[in-house]
Amino acid sequence: MSKQTLSFQAEVAQLLHLVTHSLYSNKEIFLRELVSNASDACDKLRFEALDKPELYEDAPNLEIRVSFDKEARTITITDNGIGMSQAEAVEHLGTIAKSGTRDFMSRLSGDQKKDAQLIGQFGVGFYSGFIVADRITVESRRAGLPAAEGVRWSSGGTGDFEVETLERAARGTSVILHVREDATEYLSHWKLKQIIGRYSDHISLPILMPKEEWDKDKGEYVLQDEWEAVNSASALWTRSKKDISDEQYIDFYKAISYDSEAPLAWSHNRVEGSTEYTQLLYIPSKAPVDLWNRDRKSGVKLYVKRVFIMDDAEALMPSYLRWVKGVVDSADLPLNVSRELLQESRDVKAIREGNTRRVLAMLEDLAKKDKAPEVTEAADGVTDVVSEEDKAQVGKYSAFYAEFGAVLKEGLGEDFANRDKIARLLRFASTTTDTVSVSLADYKARMKEGQTAIYVITADSLAAAKNSPQLEIFRKKGIEVLLMTDRVDEWALSFLHEFDGTPLQSVAKGAVDLGALQDEEEKKAAEQAAESFKPVLDKLKEVLKDKAKDVRVTTRLVDSPACLVVEDGEYSTQLARLLKQAGQKAPEVHPILEVNAEHPLVRKLDAAKDGGAHFDDLAHILFDQALLAEGGLPDDPAAYVRRVNALLA
Ligand code: ADP
Repeated sequence: MSKQTLSFQAEVAQLLHLVTHSLYSNKEIFLRELVSNASDACDKLRFEALDKPELYEDAPNLEIRVSFDKEARTITITDNGIGMSQAEAVEHLGTIAKSGTRDFMSRLSGDQKKDAQLIGQFGVGFYSGFIVADRITVESRRAGLPAAEGVRWSSGGTGDFEVETLERAARGTSVILHVREDATEYLSHWKLKQIIGRYSDHISLPILMPKEEWDKDKGEYVLQDEWEAVNSASALWTRSKKDISDEQYIDFYKAISYDSEAPLAWSHNRVEGSTEYTQLLYIPSKAPVDLWNRDRKSGVKLYVKRVFIMDDAEALMPSYLRWVKGVVDSADLPLNVSRELLQESRDVKAIREGNTRRVLAMLEDLAKKDKAPEVTEAADGVTDVVSEEDKAQVGKYSAFYAEFGAVLKEGLGEDFANRDKIARLLRFASTTTDTVSVSLADYKARMKEGQTAIYVITADSLAAAKNSPQLEIFRKKGIEVLLMTDRVDEWALSFLHEFDGTPLQSVAKGAVDLGALQDEEEKKAAEQAAESFKPVLDKLKEVLKDKAKDVRVTTRLVDSPACLVVEDGEYSTQLARLLKQAGQKAPEVHPILEVNAEHPLVRKLDAAKDGGAHFDDLAHILFDQALLAEGGLPDDPAAYVRRVNALLA
């Protein structure tokens, strides 16, 4: 192949511009990204060589070398991994076929710190070299190809790049950065070594740098021909817990997750039993931008006997825990395990169950320590001491829940075996508190005497839930109702019929049955009202027959004239609306209109029941308002406006 100039794909060009212009305040990440690519390339070689050992050629020891040349102003990162063919260099370094890129760009906030984090999440790592380089040259040869089929790729990071054939004896890749004027500080042994120590210490391959020694005669440090390893090159999780500091755990988390914040908690265990593995699992403190993508792979990397097998091994975690980050290193799985095989393996099933148990246990622990314990002085004058460690846990569960609570709920429908544990971890706002902090157990503990159900309401927003007419009778009687405003709530609740022996009951479904909470008199009054209102109800039913399935008198309302409810077990009007908005086929919901016999507007209806058109208008207004009150829209908004205006005039 003779020298060719090719254009970057439009997105790449745009991305490059962003990389060089928005990330200069966090320049040093370039080295982390390039070392990580080098390490991936070695992992890939090791993996391919399982079937084709000849790919190792005569260099079986995988390693990464980082060097620099002050005069030439270059930094070179070399690996002896899988390398790239000419076609691969063009494709991988010139086009981003990844759908994530567009998404990445749309998420850039202008906040350099956050944007720098995103670069990692979306895997546009290579281009970060342009933060410190005004030209990058890549020289590579794919393992297994002849020396004559190497490739040189070079670009100034603007519109285009050049490729040409290169004779290259060594397998693998060298990335040569031509350092910009304003990045001269990186042409330093000390500086590069420091960055490697900070970000890449856990890389399980040796990262070598030329030794530097003090030259007495010259009065300066001089690079030697000898190379030395500058990282510890032992996989962190293989070390014993007691030899790992919190800081090392946190640094490792940052390196595998591309998160700049420390995790909320982690758990590191050797599991022995029918299958043997090591797990190191982290609970992040912030949700990733694509949390809601259910196809998003899990954040757990799979190793087998310390050999990296794959990122994002989704079989190792249930989908509702897809945000957990970490590493599983199995002693039993075959090295050539594929994703398909993982799905079927009994060992993997055991690992997934073990991981799930572990994560839920971590969450239970955080939940237990979420609130600062009350320290009371005991009678004997001895005060219980709260450990510093426990103090540090306060507020973590709330923070976790704000980020991941809604995904956790998916577990109710996904993981039947752990449904009870998951239910205990849920938190809600309620009619007694706006903060999402009430657990089902808290609720149960303060249920009123005679109360036999956990009352809940689902709505689009906290305001809509709080002001919902269906709550009026509960408020009057001082009965707490849980307010559920996550989109997944109604779906998730359909899997949770009871908690600890007490049924959950939506206050917007079925007839109100407050059971023992309602006294005899109230029940009688309601029956009487239903009796005397029968003619109006019949008429309402007739007029609203296309909208309402039934019309009845209710005791659940205090201040509002009417509300809509559905039968037990039916989709709520709210869920039907959500499905429609999402473009999904929603079943036609015919709600029941319930009216408050005490309300003046309803009395007016009673008086107007022989009034023809006037009655019809009032009836439609009553129905449409009930719909509006819960965040819905009348089927025919113009007709609604016309009717109300007629009344106002
Ligand atoms: P990512 O690593 O997230 O895929 P990058 O932009 O960092 O994204 O790299 C793009 C692609 O270029 C990689 O997926 C890989 O195929 C190739 N690549 C980058 N660096 C190397 C390397 N040192 N050796 C072999 N291939 C590489």
